Formats: sequence, structure tokens, C-alpha cells
Amino acid sequence: MALYVMKFGGSSVGTVERMKRVAERIVEKKLEGHQCVVVVSAMGDTTDDFIDQAKSINDQLPAREMDMLLSTGEQISVSLLSMAIQKLGHASMSMTGWQAGFRTDATHGKARITDIVPERVQSALQAGNIVIVAGFQGMTEGGEITTLGRGGSDTTAVALAAAIEADVCEIYTDVDGIYSTDPRIVRRARKLKEISYDEMLELANLGAAVLHPRAVEYAKHNKVCLVVRSSFNYNEGTYVKEEAKMEQGVVVSGIAYDKNVARISVLGVADLPGVLARMFGALADEQIDVDIIVQSGVTNGEADFSFTTALHDRDRAVQVLENIRSEVPYREVTSEADLVKISIVGAGMVSHPGVAAQMFRVISETGVSIKMVSTSEIKVSCVVSNAKLNDIIGALHTSYGLDAVEEAFVGGPKDRR
Ligand code: ASP
Ligand code: MG
Repeated sequence: MALYVMKFGGSSVGTVERMKRVAERIVEKKLEGHQCVVVVSAMGDTTDDFIDQAKSINDQLPAREMDMLLSTGEQISVSLLSMAIQKLGHASMSMTGWQAGFRTDATHGKARITDIVPERVQSALQAGNIVIVAGFQGMTEGGEITTLGRGGSDTTAVALAAAIEADVCEIYTDVDGIYSTDPRIVRRARKLKEISYDEMLELANLGAAVLHPRAVEYAKHNKVCLVVRSSFNYNEGTYVKEEAKMEQGVVVSGIAYDKNVARISVLGVADLPGVLARMFGALADEQIDVDIIVQSGVTNGEADFSFTTALHDRDRAVQVLENIRSEVPYREVTSEADLVKISIVGAGMVSHPGVAAQMFRVISETGVSIKMVSTSEIKVSCVVSNAKLNDIIGALHTSYGLDAVEEAFVGGPKDRR
């Protein structure tokens, strides 16, 4: 007998019919002799619909009231799912996040879990129940309802798995697992058998929306064994764990891309102390996130800088720099869109030289020039023009030996935002 946490995303419980399928799936697990704690998201687009409704009433979206509203989405799911399980003849009990013992800080809309007191979950389990817990929510010490930020149900599941020392935390979603790259771009993307926490963290931060980065961080710190699998079939999923066994010769595990990139270039910046601090300080004051920063060499006392931001920050970033021109003299500021950041991720890079060189060569063979590069221990990212995205990712995928024998299935409902 094992103790399972099973988390089902919004699309997995998007309709009453699907809700019933999920109930059957949980009961199957129980009948195999296991204990089950289930975490669910709000049904389908419920959370988005609530936000739209709220906007039409008060576009300020008062944070406390938003948490009050959004937390009801998950409460609908847990109660209906529990009824579906009882209808199948099994004991079950639904709980809100706070009933399940989730204590958080008071940051409405993106609260952090401070403590979990899972006694109620444990005693309901002992009494033979399947326990169904509402994802994405908790309560402050003062009794205020909070939510954990969009996609927060993954974190609920992982945190609960850690708190009750579950054997496995299964994340059921609308894809079969973690793929080597987006199967809509590369049809021969392969489903990974396993991936390390660090690799998954890079991919999640790069926008692989299958798992929330905070949930992966939580899993890593608490060594929770995670499995990502489909709620629509019985295929084996992808294990996310400490040290993924390296498949022979595979140094790159995944290729991610992000089209939400703008490049800002500041040319002819006076080479004086404190200039960089002032420029990026001004951007930070405006809450503009900067990703890759590149500085060219200094000639005639002047340097050129480029950096990337999210697309929607492009105009604001230019404006900020224009505003401080009298303090930080420069010749010109320009900006550029229609770019993409392509990243290769793999724990094997650490011990294999030449991985980045291979990436640069493959990209150059597609006739595209690389505008910016950044690296970490297990990641190399290149910013290039968006025009040949598919060709580049396809070529990289083949070059790093990632092509699967068969084409991946794409389509079906989406859990990802
Ligand atoms: N329902 C919430 C959202 O859509 C939480 C979740 O699905 O994980 O963000
Ligand atoms: Mg969701």
C-alpha cells in the first residue's frame, strides 16, 4: 500500500463528464489498495471567467475580494468530485485549503505557504476516506482567505505530499508528460521518462507551463517524487526526481523557446562608474524585469549595451531610458521585437564541452545570426529572429539526438494557460 497525492488540473475536471472519469480513476487507485489524497483545480476556465466578471464590475480587482472569489472555483470542484466518488460507493471527504491546514502569509493573490497542519487530512484518511483538497488556497493566521497565484494548485499538491510524506505526487494533466520540446513544433518530440528537478526548474521557468516553477522548487527542497501524466490515458508519465539517470549520449534533455522577448539597445553610453547601476536601477524602480544583458567593449570612452525584457515592457523600458538621459548620457536607444529566445537545457552539459558550440553551429547553418547569448550551468539560451523558429528548433532537436521514433500526439484539451 502506498500513499498517493493525485492532482487534477482544470481541464481534467472541465466538465461533469470528465469529473466522473476522474472519480473512476481515483477509485481504481484506491481499489489497488492505495491511500489517496486528491488535489483539484477549478473546472475549466472558471478562474479566468471569474476574473473577467470581476473586471466588469471593478477593474481595480481588490485583492482581498479577488481571493474570496477565486477560492470558490476550487471549492466547486472538490465538492462535486467528492459527490462523484461517493456515487461510486466509496467514502470521500472534500476540504478547503484551510480545512486541510494550509497556512499562508497575507500576500493576497500570490500568497506563500508558511505552514501546513495536515491533521484533518490524516485523520480523514485513517477513517478510510479518499480526501479531496481544494488547490490554490489557504488562510492567514488572522483568518483571511488567500490564493497562491495562477497555477498554484501544483504547489498545493506538492506541499501536501511533503507534509503527509506521500510516496508519490502524481500531476494529472492534458499531456502525457514532459516532452523534449513543444510537440506542436517538432512532431518527433520525445516524451522523457525522467528529468531532474534542476532541469525541470529551468524548463518551467522558461515557460514550459505543464508544471508551475514554485511547485518544482518545493518538490526539489522536500525531495517529493513527482510524476507528470495524462488524465485522459494510462501512458506512463515523466518522473521528476533528484538525479535523473542520463540516457546514454543524451546531454541535452529539452529545448524551450519564448517569443515574449524584446531587445533594447543603448548605444554610445559614456563609460563612467555607476552608469549601469543607474540605468538598471531606473528599470527596476519601474518593475521592469530584465533578462539577458550584453555589453560590448569600450571604444573612445563609450560602450553599447543591449538587454531583453518582456514584449509588453518594451515601450516602457525605452521611455525610462529616455527619462534618465540627462543623468546617463548616451547616443541612441533602439528596440526590437519579432525575436525568440531559444534555450537548450541538460544536466549533462556540465561534463560535456562543446554543447554550446554545437548550438551556435546548428543555428548558423539555418542562416540565422545570433543576437544574444546567455548561459547557466545546465542551460544555453540564444536570442534570434523569430522568422525561422521551427527550423532552428527542429535542427537542434535532431542534432542533440532527441528525435523520437514516432510522432507525438498533439491536440486535445489544454490545461495550460
Ligand atoms: N485555478 C487556478 C488557476 O487557474 C489554480 C490552478 O489551476 O492551479 O490559476
Ligand atoms: Mg488552472
